Amino acid sequence: MIGVVMSAIDRKPSPSSPAGVARLPDGRLDLWVCTRCGYTYDGNAGEPVSQTAPGTPFEALPDDWHCPHCTAEKEYFFH
Ligand SMILES: [Zn+2]
Repeated sequence: MIGVVMSAIDRKPSPSSPAGVARLPDGRLDLWVCTRCGYTYDGNAGEPVSQTAPGTPFEALPDDWHCPHCTAEKEYFFH
């Protein structure tokens, strides 16, 4: 009985891999490409122009984030 309760508590999502974040087969963050200019956002390396720290998933960027090359909004990116 105690084991059942414990496993229910453990079912919280892990902070290191939040749900909804696209990842490559090797576990690295997926790359997102700007459909207007071809710029590739690599969350593993971060993005110095917008001062985005390495390891930031595209999904975690603020809604007003835009392409550092052509200022396209997030909705113009695909992966
Ligand atoms: Zn762009």
